[in-house]
Amino acid sequence: MSPEKAGFDCDVLVAGGGPAGTTLAALLARAGRSVVVLDKDRHPRFHIGESLLPANARLFDDLGIRAEIERIGMLKIGAEFVSPHHAHASVVEFADAWDKTLPFAWQVRRSEFDQIMIGCAERAGAQVRQGCAVRDVAFDGEGVTVGAQDRKEAGPAGEGNKEPATRTWRARYFVDATGRDTLLATRQGIKRKLKKHDSAALFGHFRGARRHTGRLEGSITIFWFEHGWMWFIPLADGTTSIGAVCWPYYLKSRDKPLKEFFLETLAMAPKLAERLQGAALVDDAVYATGNYAYASDHASGERYAAVGDAFAFVDPVFSSGVYLAMASSYAALPLVQKTLDAGPAAAAAERRRYEAHMRRGPRIFTWFIVRMTNPAIREMFMHPRNVLRAKEAVLGVMAGDIFSRTPLWRGLLAFKAIYYVTCIAMLPRALRAWWQRRELIRDVGETKGENVMVPMR
Ligand SMILES: Cc1cc2nc3c(=O)[nH]c(=O)nc-3n(C[C@H](O)[C@H](O)[C@H](O)COP(=O)(O)OP(=O)(O)OC[C@H]3O[C@@H](n4cnc5c(N)ncnc54)[C@H](O)[C@@H]3O)c2cc1C
Repeated sequence: MSPEKAGFDCDVLVAGGGPAGTTLAALLARAGRSVVVLDKDRHPRFHIGESLLPANARLFDDLGIRAEIERIGMLKIGAEFVSPHHAHASVVEFADAWDKTLPFAWQVRRSEFDQIMIGCAERAGAQVRQGCAVRDVAFDGEGVTVGAQDRKEAGPAGEGNKEPATRTWRARYFVDATGRDTLLATRQGIKRKLKKHDSAALFGHFRGARRHTGRLEGSITIFWFEHGWMWFIPLADGTTSIGAVCWPYYLKSRDKPLKEFFLETLAMAPKLAERLQGAALVDDAVYATGNYAYASDHASGERYAAVGDAFAFVDPVFSSGVYLAMASSYAALPLVQKTLDAGPAAAAAERRRYEAHMRRGPRIFTWFIVRMTNPAIREMFMHPRNVLRAKEAVLGVMAGDIFSRTPLWRGLLAFKAIYYVTCIAMLPRALRAWWQRRELIRDVGETKGENVMVPMR
């Protein structure tokens, strides 16, 4: 029976039109489900998360959008690591990963990328409504009632600037794809800050930054510095995205306007500062995101699933966010389908599988993330060796090859064993770094700029 005949407006209502929401909307719509996507923003709009992983490519192929991504993207063949303690830069290429069929990815401007994703969902048959924020979600035995409000448009009061309309949808299933807004997890009180990795980020776009030429032009560069790490992401139109991920105490120490503080922070990495000589911040816009790594206690309920950042977010040093978001939507598809076809009780096994999937990605990346500023791991990234295929395995993780049958675990085991031996070999330094990190990530309360995706001045 069609959802309309059964008294529903649609089968599935998706809150959030980012990569996670649009992927699941496209998959469900092409499977014949009636899907409504509501996004509180109007696109195109700024969003952070511009460096993609090779594993994204297979999903783009499946969604039929690879050509569009190639058109807007900057080819990314690997990553460069720059440390204040080493004279050389270390370059790794995805072509050397365990699975040699994942040799590159792209850097993308998210305003363009997210529009491609919305177009993909619409072409598949989903109905997308922009500038419409979900406010209320109420579940009952049969489905879910979702209250939403259109955004009040900027402009003079009066004609053409009516009060925002509110509307209610009745759906059989709800998908929370609201990203860092974590609509359901926040309401349910099940969102937990990742105590082991509390940090905050400042970022902006630069014109005129000195980029590599040739094959490495589009690669991401990661700079370690005293208070965390920084990224350098070359975009296709010549703009470069640059950001600093800092320990919260450092952001809290800000005693000057954000732009000044941001530029002073970037100057703390001398090799980055060299590449920024003569460069200018686009529109003087600096963005900030505080208190930012978290996970929720669960990712699904009887008639809902949380996908992407709406469930969890880990530090972006491995550019994993967009891939994990899209992969979560692929993993949610059988759960939503089973629930729609046979009801929540029959979908219990699918829910257990989905919950396990949602924890796997963050767990694998977090092992590296919490050790990223440790001298032992820095040594290993600055002098990568393929002992027992350890380098191929770590590159496999960096390529996003974590949900396939590639037996990365063997090489990862070797990498972890070498890491612990290296720690013992440099015990006093490793202990000092561990102690320092413990102190640096101590809870300093809310940092300014919680989830600010609009420029701060
Ligand atoms: C500093 C930083 C750097 C990052 N760098 C990278 C990177 O290099 N590579 C990478 O892959 N990832 C990166 N990420 C992560 C990446 O941005 C996210 O993981 C990714 O965008 C998640 O996709 P999503 O669809 O889950 O959420 P989002 O992309 O955030 O989309 C959520 C959507 O939901 C909408 N929404 C929110 N609330 C509501 C509501 N109530 N009603 C309706 N709509 C709503 C929003 O408008 C938004 O469009 C970074 C993140 C940060 C913070």
